[in-house]
Amino acid sequence: MVHPLHQFVYCPSCGAKAFTNRNEKAKQCDVCGFTYYYNPAASVACFIRNPKDELLLVKRAKEPALGTLDLPGGFADRFESAEEAVYREIKEETGLVFSDSRYLFSLPNIYPYLGFKVHTLDLFFECRVDTFEGAKAADDAAETIILPISSLTPKDFGLHSIQKAITLYTSNLNDSSK
Ligand SMILES: [Zn+2]
Repeated sequence: MVHPLHQFVYCPSCGAKAFTNRNEKAKQCDVCGFTYYYNPAASVACFIRNPKDELLLVKRAKEPALGTLDLPGGFADRFESAEEAVYREIKEETGLVFSDSRYLFSLPNIYPYLGFKVHTLDLFFECRVDTFEGAKAADDAAETIILPISSLTPKDFGLHSIQKAITLYTSNLNDSSK
């Protein structure tokens, strides 16, 4: 397996071209000793659900997985909580303002970005809302799409962790109705 840091050639601390593999998680500089651990980036995604058990989804406006279905979400910024990231991303992509979100579960993912494999830890949330009225796609979302939860098909979602999340979310739903 290719080291996740194989594209990192120079030490980010001293700039020496002596940045060698330390182990599968890290590279170390042979000159200054700096060790860089490649930890996953935190990202969030949200199931926005109305009382009719429909979800507000978005169609991806950018690569990767351009044109496929997605949950509103994105990377958490520095100094931001996951809840704040959910609030900001929903506002950016759908124009809606929700403050109440509930954490569900997390999944690891690899997000291909401009030839670089960004390892992420995707945190999934649920927002229960009265209505999707006023939703308008912007930013990374090409359009908003409303679908009943019962009709969701994981393969319509382009990102791997989102496909898994759709499967988990809909199977939990079936469990709770028993
Ligand atoms: Zn160095």
